Amino acid sequence: MNTNEFTQQMKKVYNRAGSLYQRAGESHVIEYPALLADSLEELRTSLEELRVAEEELRQQNEELQSARETVEAERQRYQELFEFAPDGYLVTDADGTIREANRAAADLLGIAHNYLMGKPLIIFISQEERRAFRTKLLRLREVGSSEREWEVVVKPRHDNCFHAALTVASVRDRQDKVISLRWMMRDITARKEAEEKIRAYHLQNLQLQEASRLKSQFLALMSHELRTPMNAIIGFSQLLLRQRNHNLPSNQANMVERILNSGKHLLKMIEEILDFSKLEAGRLDLDLAEFNLVGLVKETVEELQCLAEQKQLELNIQCCLDNPCVVNDKARLRQILVNLISNAIKFTDSGSILLEAQELSDNRVAIAVKDTGIGIDPSDLQHIFQEFRQINQSLTRDRGGTGLGLAISDRLVRMMQGKIKVESQLGEGSTFQVELPRQIPVELEVIS
Ligand code: ADP
Repeated sequence: MNTNEFTQQMKKVYNRAGSLYQRAGESHVIEYPALLADSLEELRTSLEELRVAEEELRQQNEELQSARETVEAERQRYQELFEFAPDGYLVTDADGTIREANRAAADLLGIAHNYLMGKPLIIFISQEERRAFRTKLLRLREVGSSEREWEVVVKPRHDNCFHAALTVASVRDRQDKVISLRWMMRDITARKEAEEKIRAYHLQNLQLQEASRLKSQFLALMSHELRTPMNAIIGFSQLLLRQRNHNLPSNQANMVERILNSGKHLLKMIEEILDFSKLEAGRLDLDLAEFNLVGLVKETVEELQCLAEQKQLELNIQCCLDNPCVVNDKARLRQILVNLISNAIKFTDSGSILLEAQELSDNRVAIAVKDTGIGIDPSDLQHIFQEFRQINQSLTRDRGGTGLGLAISDRLVRMMQGKIKVESQLGEGSTFQVELPRQIPVELEVIS
């Protein structure tokens, strides 16, 4: 029952009581006690109805009170949320005059909360952006829509400008007229700085990529150009040495031999630089074919045996492969083995070098090169495959090399869908192990 119904009920009872009163005054009622009893009964019924109505109303009142309390508690909760929200919240009228603001908004605008009320929001927008702000405000009033987020430069009362993100929503009346605007203001200085840094890094990255591309291009060109005269030097010195027994005095033969050795050394370096620049540019392809891995290991060891003998090192092989057939690029795998074995010889002064080939599973094989050489410091192990990296310069510098061999081997092994690992103990030796698929899946041949 609502108040109207209750008033109606009251009116009905009042009218009825009135008419009964009137009737009671009439003389014939006294003469007819039954009529009086009827009237009294009717009055009692009306009074009871009224009581029921009153109870109903009281109950409704209680419910209303409790609903009001709930609403008040909610309002309080939202007020606290509004007050203590980390972002600035403001309510303005449609013209942008501030009517409500939370603490964060007052802090952001650098002004005490009570001075904020009644001020136009635009006075806190930097001079340069006020025109655009005004236009947007007008649009908001007319169209009501807004972009999701809108960036402005805010000028607090007593502080320096900062970048802020504004989000605004309009509140309308029943005639769809904008009556107020709710604003959220967030300081995005840190985000802006981060964006600026990312932009700078990106630019720097592009410049570095370009520099790296130019470097690779230069290396490729230079090594290509150097290879031809170097091949001529090697070829002619070999020719001279072949006739040595007939024509050259021994001191000259010795000089030619040194020319030949230096030439070979330089050619190896040039080849490495060329390979590396090709790998960097992604212009190196694998030439896949089936071959006998044990055969390749034996051939490579034989080829380098004399180098080991020169240093009185033992160079041994241990192959435990049931099936020695693999599909890979034979020349490139030989290049990897040559690099690992020559390093082992180069960095070992006494003891031995062992080449182990084994099956890891049906479709994976491993080749390990173990030496008893100078070893590698644990802190250097993580850099060992980086290009141009020669660790412990004082120990390795006098042993020659470009610092490219392992970088090339690592990239080649990755191209072959394998991996290269190293374990080492300073002063005791190192083990380089190459793990490879028995057969390189053709579609995976491209380097990542
Ligand atoms: P380099 O042409 O200098 O040999 P590498 O890339 O082949 O270049 O090797 C990089 C560095 O790793 C070497 O200069 C050396 O310091 C270290 N290194 C490689 N193999 C061994 C090894 N078997 N024992 C000790 N140090 C090694």
